[in-house]
Amino acid sequence: MSANNQATLFLVATPIGNLSELSPRALEVLKSVDVVACEDTRNSLKLMSHFDIHTRMISYHNFNEEESSNGIIKLLEEGKNIALISDAGYPLISDPGYVLVNRVIDSGYNVTTISGPSAGLNALVASGLNTSHYMFYGFLNAKKSQAKKELEELKYFPYTIIFYEAPHRYEKTLELMKEVLGDRRACLARELTKLHETYHRGLLSELCELKDLKGEMVILIEGYKKEKEEVKEEDIFEYIDELIKSGLKVKEACGKASEKYDMSKNQLYNAYLKKGK
Ligand code: SAM
Repeated sequence: MSANNQATLFLVATPIGNLSELSPRALEVLKSVDVVACEDTRNSLKLMSHFDIHTRMISYHNFNEEESSNGIIKLLEEGKNIALISDAGYPLISDPGYVLVNRVIDSGYNVTTISGPSAGLNALVASGLNTSHYMFYGFLNAKKSQAKKELEELKYFPYTIIFYEAPHRYEKTLELMKEVLGDRRACLARELTKLHETYHRGLLSELCELKDLKGEMVILIEGYKKEKEEVKEEDIFEYIDELIKSGLKVKEACGKASEKYDMSKNQLYNAYLKKGK
């Protein structure tokens, strides 16, 4: 399991709601390591008891990552394998672990991941928003003025953005997003993998109508879209001609041009063939 004979830190993703999503591999690792470092031992105890895992647990705190890391490095020095888990999903994703991972890498021990669910990715793939490129942003600052600044910086980002948000703040956050980013397509994904999982999809102005929602939530926003410039057909055909001259087949060239000009590939291909007649 490790790249060398040194001890290993396993970054283990745990369920974000539905406990059946703990992978068999994660279970095996949590049972076989010497120590499980948790964000909150009381929280993780539920998971550990559910799966009958009796590995020793220690806490690894966000607010004191440096100090918590020292203890874990010491255990690795003793040859002990450690699993790091957070309360839900991937450790380090809006959760503690970043300082530790860097300390472990610098100290020459192995760091590896055990895959599993993450709220942001679950939400993204079902949101209906563009998935070809996206940014995970996580939490905006809790202070409104600071959150506004962050959103202003994101305003022209052209791809889908994933935000985490606390339930007591989502209404104000959606309002602020609408104010700063303008009315765009968005999705609020709630209680993922749980009984009341719900996707609210629509324009930000429509999502702003949703009041008093409860549960954990992810907010996704469509990227900035430039007003479509008027492009002349002959310029597009000229671009395709150039691509063909450079060695591309007609279909490939039309594919590239359709991406560049955000058009249907088939329509462009048919139009190009027609033009040749
Ligand atoms: N490490 C986690 C991950 O990989 O997704 C994220 C932890 S972060 C402290 C907690 C935030 O994740 C919540 O406020 C919410 O935005 C999101 N979240 C976690 N579980 C969720 C769920 N089941 N449904 C929707 N959002 C969830």
